[in-house]
Amino acid sequence: MSISFDELGLGQSVLNAVSDSGYTEPTEIQAQAIPLVLTGQDMIGVAQTGTGKTASFTLPMIEKLSTGRARARMPRSLILEPTRELAAQVADNFDVYGKYSKLTKALLIGGVAFAEQEAKLTRGVDVLIATPGRLLDHLERGKILLADIKTFVIDEADRMLDMGFIPDVERIFKLLPKTRQTLMFSATMPAEIRRLSKTYLKDPLQVEVAPPATTSKNITQALVTIRGSHKEKRAALRDLIRGENVSNALIFCNRKRDVTIVANSLSRHGFDVASLHGDMAQSLRMETLGRFKNGDFKLMVASDVAARGLDIVNMSHVINYDVPSHAEDYVHRIGRTGRAGNTGHAFTLSTSEDRKYLAAIENLIGEKISRVNLDGTKADPEPANAEKNVAQKSHRSSSNSGKAQATANPRRADTARGRAKPDDSEQQSKETKAPRSRQRNDRPTEPARRQDKPTVDHPRKSDEGRNRRNAEKDTENVVGLGDHVPNFLRR
Ligand code: AMP
Repeated sequence: MSISFDELGLGQSVLNAVSDSGYTEPTEIQAQAIPLVLTGQDMIGVAQTGTGKTASFTLPMIEKLSTGRARARMPRSLILEPTRELAAQVADNFDVYGKYSKLTKALLIGGVAFAEQEAKLTRGVDVLIATPGRLLDHLERGKILLADIKTFVIDEADRMLDMGFIPDVERIFKLLPKTRQTLMFSATMPAEIRRLSKTYLKDPLQVEVAPPATTSKNITQALVTIRGSHKEKRAALRDLIRGENVSNALIFCNRKRDVTIVANSLSRHGFDVASLHGDMAQSLRMETLGRFKNGDFKLMVASDVAARGLDIVNMSHVINYDVPSHAEDYVHRIGRTGRAGNTGHAFTLSTSEDRKYLAAIENLIGEKISRVNLDGTKADPEPANAEKNVAQKSHRSSSNSGKAQATANPRRADTARGRAKPDDSEQQSKETKAPRSRQRNDRPTEPARRQDKPTVDHPRKSDEGRNRRNAEKDTENVVGLGDHVPNFLRR
């Protein structure tokens, strides 16, 4: 049974924009959520990114905003995103789906000058897309009033929790008018998010398209065991990329230092590569991401800053240069591929030191990841033998100084499919150790910086970067990216 976009209650302008996007039919979350959002009902959407959830709230919001006008400093709708990149992505969605609707929007994210954002707010905007910290900064400066908000969306609520943003979100809730529609999207529903929904949503209907820990059937996973250290891993990585049919790949390292080392190494070996990590200036992060999305380079080496929520069309591969030490980061990382119905491939390079992390990952995803050799053959699943077996292959191929001899191919190796916990939002893992431990203790505390400030109402001055910066201590340079500024940044 498939339903068409025409049947969802959307007007012609929105339908035309949808049709221009090439979408033929709504995704499951869209089919369920759009009619519901149009009725004004509060809603909890349990869905991961890649399911089309952004359009499931942006399309009906555009429809609803088509009547009425925004007043100066009084936006009519508000979308909260945990990270700058996700906020920018949602703003892009408004441009695409709202192209036939005369709506105004403002993107309030950290790392961008206040003046331009304030000028927009003063003119009046229909949609405000913001990260919590920057929104609170503007509110504190008296530049916005939330009294006219009719629809409030909290996207990636579980990620907000991970990042320690729940106190900020609650503060924002308290500034909203009582009569409003609230939509909360979350990949998972931990207790704290349930509490939030009980406190602030009114008789919400729950729409669930991917229950926690369901299989991401489109991703083929494989694990390559490496004996040795970074030199051998870098050689194996090159062999892997050369042997695979990579159209574009995200390569994840656990440490920022290694992001730069691996990117530089790949570059030296002639690969088309850039890097992305949390200590880069926001403008450079956005530019790098934009260029990667545009296909300006094939490979991007990243820290977990890129692990969540990023929507990069047709990403063929995700490679974990390091096994993530938080099992859930594995799921978020590999969720960058195999999106929107496409197939994807996820490889993980592991060493003997990673055994305990691997066990946690396999426990979380509920299955064993296929062990493969760099030549694509199935490796001995018994860890000690597999290691020896693969190490020999790895050594051989690296000693051939990068000749394309490895053809690691999980498809040929009868790879198990990954069971992916519903994804995503975005961002770091080690990079936000503090919020994670807060979550575990179930006792959120104010971020350290705020404790310096006696005014309790003062928000964090810049949002997601702070904890990450504290955690990532490295100081290396980043790969230069040239002058190109992608369109999505020219707003
Ligand atoms: P999201 O889950 O919102 O991050 O969306 C994931 C991807 O699915 C994005 O690239 C969207 O452009 C795409 N998408 C959203 N809705 C549809 C649809 N109805 N048909 C095909 N692709 C879609």
